[in-house]
Parts: sequence; C-alpha cells; structure tokens
Amino acid sequence: MHYRKLRGDALFDGFRLRPDSVLVMAEDGVVADIVPVADAPDAEFHAGILSPGFVNCHCHLELSHMKGLIPEGTGLVDFVFSIVSQRQAGVDAIDDAIRAGEEEMIRAGIVAVGDICNNESTLAQKREARLHYTNFIEASGWLPAVSEARFERALGLFEAFESLQSSGRAQTSIVPHAPYSVSPELWARLRPAMQQKIVSIHNQETAQEDEFFRTGGGDFNRMYELMRIDSSHHQPTGRSSLQSYYHQLDGAAHVLLVHDTFTTQADIDFIRGRPGAKEPSFCLCINANLYIERRLPPVELLLTNDCHIVLGTDSLASNHSLSIGDEMAAFRKHFPGIPVETLLTWATSNGARALGISDRYGSFGKGKRPGVVAVGDGGVRVLG
Ligand SMILES: [Zn+2]
Repeated sequence: MHYRKLRGDALFDGFRLRPDSVLVMAEDGVVADIVPVADAPDAEFHAGILSPGFVNCHCHLELSHMKGLIPEGTGLVDFVFSIVSQRQAGVDAIDDAIRAGEEEMIRAGIVAVGDICNNESTLAQKREARLHYTNFIEASGWLPAVSEARFERALGLFEAFESLQSSGRAQTSIVPHAPYSVSPELWARLRPAMQQKIVSIHNQETAQEDEFFRTGGGDFNRMYELMRIDSSHHQPTGRSSLQSYYHQLDGAAHVLLVHDTFTTQADIDFIRGRPGAKEPSFCLCINANLYIERRLPPVELLLTNDCHIVLGTDSLASNHSLSIGDEMAAFRKHFPGIPVETLLTWATSNGARALGISDRYGSFGKGKRPGVVAVGDGGVRVLG
C-alpha cells in the first residue's frame, strides 16, 4: 500500500505537540504511525502545525441563511426573538445556505459537528455524509400545555434523522433547547429520552437567565410578552439557572453545556458535589458570545477548575464564519496566555470525546481516520 508522509513546523497529535515527528497515513486517510523525522527524510513538508481535523461541538447549520440578518450586540433576549420571528425563508435560500455552510466547515478543516436540529431542512445535505454529524434534535416549549405536541414533534424529527445512522457518520439525540424554554412538563417527557444519550443544552448564555430562575424577574419576562407566551407558571428557585435544572440531565451518557458565559465557581462546585457526579463538557462559542452579548466566557475559571472544554461555532445568525480556526484565533486575541497546544486539544480530542467519536476522530492514534490540517498564520489548510 502507498503511504503519505507529512511533516510540518510541528506535529500536534490531538493531545500534545511532538517535536521532529512525521505523520504516516494510508491513502484512505487512516493513520499508520508517527515516526521521527530521521526515519522519513522523504516526507512532504507543509508550513504550520499539522493537527487532526477539528470537531465543532455546537452549530445550527439550519440557520445558515440568517447570516448577517441580526445586528451584533442586541443581547440574548432580542436575539432569540429575532431568530424565532425572522427564521422563515424560501426553501431554495435555506438549502443553498446549508450547502454553503457545510462546504465552509469542510474547507475550514472541520470533520465532525454537533448540530442542533429544529426541522428537517439539513437532512438532505447530511445524507451525503461528507462530515460526521451528531444531530441534537432540539425540543422547546415554555408553555406547559404544548409539552406533548412539542415532544411528539421532536420524536418525529428524531426518527427522520435516525435514518442517517446507516451512513455510519451520524448519531441522534433529543435534547432540551435551554432552561428558560423547557417547562417542567416538557422536562418530564424529555428525561426518559435522554437516558444514556449525549445531550447538549444552551446554558447560562446571559445574566438574565440566572435572574429569571433566582427571582423570576428580568428581561426574559419581556421576551415571553413579545412572544405572547403566558409565563405565570414559572416558579423561581432562588438558585442559578444551572443549579435549578441540572438534575433533569441525570442518566445522560454525557452532557455538553453550551456557552456558559455566566457560569460561576458555585455552579462548578454544585455539579461536582452531586451524587454520582459526571463531568460535563463546557462548549465555548466565543465569537457568538461577542456577537450577541459582547461578553467573553469565563475561560480562566474553567481552566483553574480543570474543566473539559470543547469548541463550537454556533450558527451564522450569530457568527461571521463556521470555522474552529476563527474561534481559536479569538481565544488567542482575548486570552493570549493560553498555549496553542491547549486550544488545539479543545478543538480536536476534547471535542471528539464529548461527541463520543474518539474511535475515529480527534487524534492521530493508529487506525483512526481523523483528517489532517495545517494551522498557521495564514489560517487553516486541509491536507487530507
Ligand atoms: Zn446555539
């Protein structure tokens, strides 16, 4: 069999930088070995750091047609209202944007995506199996009376997306949208469906979310008024959002907490203090946080606590690109002290672990087929 030998300014294997090393790969992209440069003098050289392909743990491919539609800095409440009220568009425009969004991810070196689904619009594109997709079928419904209908709808979508499983490049879970959009009645229906599944939830994306759970006050009431949804059933808990709902996720195989912009030490202590506590992944989408709320996630807090961090792009409604390279560039700008090795770990092996796909993606282990990219000052280039 013919092998490709690849060398860069450095080789990142998914966990650490390996000096003077060459990646040996079969023609079909399966990793054969990592060998010293001296043993592979004929290796092709590429400028930049060679890395496994990237894992985008949080995306909404179905919102790609909303690129540039919502202005920056509106805050979450107005952002969510804009999404709900402006997401309708022609089928062709939606399909074209989905195709272009996926193509953008492939060119940016992304090989696997955790993708939120509220409808079937991405299904046809995903049938082509150009990327791995973990499809998170999102259920929401703040009004208790709609819980049955919303759950049935999610079940229907789940079955439609389950048909992608046969490609071997997809998995499917039903997940809650956010703590403020899932009623106790809907949680009760979701809980059995989440057992032993990988689950994601939008968590603490705005300070208003914590206020809504602590006191029942704040801007979320305005959002429900805008949407004409009766919120009188809401019972404040006196605790943060995370500490109010987290028990509902018990029994999930793994939890991805997405955004975490306002997560605190007390919240991390709360998670770790629970009986049978399992560590969640903290999925950071820094460019979306800057776009919507002009806020940075509490990166130092998560690092100090040795939290499992993964990266997401969120959607083109709240980001200028679907590129994990651009997310890493934003971290380098706002948190210049974080080593590139750490950022690459978030972007590769951590993401693969969170989505349960480490057997193929996220690192250059023998027999895996994780894709290979070169990361340099000029951006990301896909090598295989
Ligand atoms: Zn999102």
